Amino acid sequence: MENKISDRQFWECAGKLSEGRHLTQEQWRILLEGRSKERQRELARRASDLRDRIYGKRIFIRGLIEFTNYCKNDCYYCGIRRSNKNASRYRLTEEQILDCCRAGYELGFRTFVLQGGEDPYFNDERMAEIIRAIRQEFSRCAITLSIGEKEKESYALFKEAGADRYLLRHETADEDHYRKLHPPELSLSHRIRCLETLKDLGYQTGAGIMVGSPGQTTQTLIEDMEFLERLQPEMVGIGPFIPHHDTPFKGEPQGELELTLYLLSLIRLLLPRVLLPATTALGTIDPMGREMGVLAGANVVMPNLSSENVRGKYLLYDNKIHTGKEAAECLDALRESMKAIGYDVVVDRGDFLREDMK
Ligand code: SAH
Repeated sequence: MENKISDRQFWECAGKLSEGRHLTQEQWRILLEGRSKERQRELARRASDLRDRIYGKRIFIRGLIEFTNYCKNDCYYCGIRRSNKNASRYRLTEEQILDCCRAGYELGFRTFVLQGGEDPYFNDERMAEIIRAIRQEFSRCAITLSIGEKEKESYALFKEAGADRYLLRHETADEDHYRKLHPPELSLSHRIRCLETLKDLGYQTGAGIMVGSPGQTTQTLIEDMEFLERLQPEMVGIGPFIPHHDTPFKGEPQGELELTLYLLSLIRLLLPRVLLPATTALGTIDPMGREMGVLAGANVVMPNLSSENVRGKYLLYDNKIHTGKEAAECLDALRESMKAIGYDVVVDRGDFLREDMK
């Protein structure tokens, strides 16, 4: 495919992206379709250099607490969708969540990410109460939420209670593609409105996609890149789509490792200061996925802090790693593997570095 796109065309677009200039759809197409091993290697090098210039050789860690796998939504790709009767459901109590934070703090985590399905049990009152308790005990840690679409009042309440950041992947910026991934009661416009609200409220906000989700095309990826450019999120989470055997997408192919790595580099170049995780899904499809993600431009890793007995139940997709390097207890192994590629796992909140803060 890259043969149709000349070096001159390709590097002109890559150069423009590196200079922070706006690309047309056609130019994005040239970058996305002109991928070759060699071009990818060079863009990864540029992305890595750029990240090093801004954040240094520092890798930020986030303690991921998957506190509920109940969900009222029915997304076609997700293993904890409400129609999956085979999922073994669980909820952590406030005390269990705090215990996760305590263990994580001892290990060196200074950001806690509360992620879950959209579980009505955790209503605004309960959520605010949990956030306040964490804020009270860990006044200098960052609290990140990843609990889906809410009303503005709820987001404001959580912010007030002490939350700093919010992860809400947009999943795709293309209306038709969004329809293919979600049931009719969910809409792209509402999800985008949520992201804009989160930004307005002052959250460090994270968007993102699954790479290779069913129906994804170069055109939908172009729209994703344009959307990210417009939104200017502080964080972007991307990982390969991985089929789950109890979902309508069980027979769909997994997203590609190399395309995921390539997109990480493009996103780093598009949003130089973005906090960009090498995700669990990336680590799931390849044992070196996280290291390769960092070498492509990522600077965040999110090991799991949830207690051992529930960790195997938060199964968004098949074969999700839940022992080994992603587990917080194996942080030493993670430190070593990052060290081996020239990076340091640091004890730090790892906030988004605004231009005026350098
Ligand atoms: N309920 C929250 C958290 C969702 S889980 C929310 O709506 O934001 C976090 C992310 O996991 C999702 O946004 C989705 O992009 C990803 N995910 C879900 N199922 C997946 C699958 N089968 N393969 C890869 N990633 C998946």
